[in-house]
Amino acid sequence: MQNKLFEKHYSRFTSSIFLLSLIFLATSCFKDSEVDERLESVKAAKRSPGVSANEILSSSKFQSLELEIQYMEGYPLSETTITQITDWLNSLINKPLGITVITTSIPAVGQEDYSVTEVREIEDNNRTAYNAGDKLGMYILILDGYFDEDSDTEASLGFAHRNTSIALMGKRVKENSGSFGRPSKPKLETTVLEHELGHLMGLVNLGSGMVTDHEDGENLKHCDNEDCLMYWEVETRSIFSSMDEGIPTLDENCLNDLKANGGK
Ligand SMILES: [Zn+2]
Ligand SMILES: [Zn+2]
Repeated sequence: MQNKLFEKHYSRFTSSIFLLSLIFLATSCFKDSEVDERLESVKAAKRSPGVSANEILSSSKFQSLELEIQYMEGYPLSETTITQITDWLNSLINKPLGITVITTSIPAVGQEDYSVTEVREIEDNNRTAYNAGDKLGMYILILDGYFDEDSDTEASLGFAHRNTSIALMGKRVKENSGSFGRPSKPKLETTVLEHELGHLMGLVNLGSGMVTDHEDGENLKHCDNEDCLMYWEVETRSIFSSMDEGIPTLDENCLNDLKANGGK
């Protein structure tokens, strides 16, 4: 979770994207009211991770969820992963009109690594799932490279970078799964995506208040329980040693926070 960094970039980036969207929409053939709604929805999707926790968890504003998964050619999610994360979301969030998943491919960009700004630009050029009426839009982008802030000791498998946006570093996931001593690809994908979805749902202390204090003092916005899905190592390469026993689950403290903020 690179939350501090994202906030730093946030305001400057929003204004330029807003302007670009305005130019684009002004030349297309929406009615004025539709243009207004679309602009509002695009703007609403450019806030910090965690701020939409209640909108995701409860049904008070949105009764359905549209999850758009876009992958760069060569890096599709496993079918098992899509089923698992959809079932998992269904078990946690109140969406009486259901969850719809749309999966599409986009051309591979071919960079070795990507910055947060670049990830956001790719999203802005390709994403179609935005809030509309009682439907909440959510977006997962799978990239063909690494995160440009990786170090020798820490390699990012994915991150949540806006209130309804997740990036999965497809090349890193592919390299670190499926071979001897490594988790299977669906297992690794599911673990990382569920962890990042947990951040979007406000964990830990990121938009869903803590019922009992359980934030890791050294790794903020993460759970202090090393067996929990929201433990910090889950989004880095160092997760492998602790994945022998299957996909980590949310512990009682994390589940309680979700329930208290409108979840199941
Ligand atoms: Zn995290
Ligand atoms: Zn936890």
